[in-house]
Amino acid sequence: MESNYSYETVRENYRRISDDIGETLSKYRSGGRVEIMAVTKTVPPEVVNWVFDFGIKLMGENRVQEYLSKKDLYAKDTGNGTPPDIHFIGHLQTNKVKYIIDEMTMIQSVDSIRLAQEINRLAIAHNKVMDVLCEVNIGGEDSKSGVSPDELIPLLKQLAPMEGLRVRGLMTIPPPSDSDVFLGRMEELFNEIKDRKIEGIAMEQLSMGMTHDYAEAVRHGSTIVRIGTGLFGARSSK
Ligand SMILES: *Cc1c(COP(=O)(O)O)cnc(C)c1O
Repeated sequence: MESNYSYETVRENYRRISDDIGETLSKYRSGGRVEIMAVTKTVPPEVVNWVFDFGIKLMGENRVQEYLSKKDLYAKDTGNGTPPDIHFIGHLQTNKVKYIIDEMTMIQSVDSIRLAQEINRLAIAHNKVMDVLCEVNIGGEDSKSGVSPDELIPLLKQLAPMEGLRVRGLMTIPPPSDSDVFLGRMEELFNEIKDRKIEGIAMEQLSMGMTHDYAEAVRHGSTIVRIGTGLFGARSSK
């Protein structure tokens, strides 16, 4: 396969994004921290592995099948003997949880009680506790998964007692237009829930911001930005 990816370009892209985030933090959130996730969909594993040279330690996977076909080729060591953290960020069907329960350090896309129950069941069976984020459809778009802000607190209360999973925060994909407005709403929602101190629920991670809106997302309190095209270039249509 012919490759259009260049190590130098990906490195420059990473530097620019990382500098932007640093500047935004020092302007608006002095002392804050943001982790850059490399979103790997359609990117060949040998190209994904470059990002570990730059200091990225977190990967985001959208599709179970694609992940399973690439996983053996991903680097097992990001530099200090530690494997990359891999988070699942795509829509997850309940019947596919079994393929990733031992592979991911977090599932960011929990949007139903049924999905949570299956994660809980399998995590307990595998003797582990899975970190999860609840996905919020902050723009109320039909095309997107995630719970509405109104459904969020009831869902969190159902998840709180589950022993096989631990809610660590929220994730969202705002509508591409007006994303600034929706990022602001997400920040409010996150802070409101944090202030409620729901027992068994941690509000530590706010995963939002992609290539087109990561700087605004950081301004609005994001702790994880998920970057695909901004790092690797435009995805081939397939
Ligand atoms: C593809 C994807 C991203 C990255 O999008 P880019 O615009 O390529 O940076 C982030 N989050 C999710 C859930 C995605 O599916």
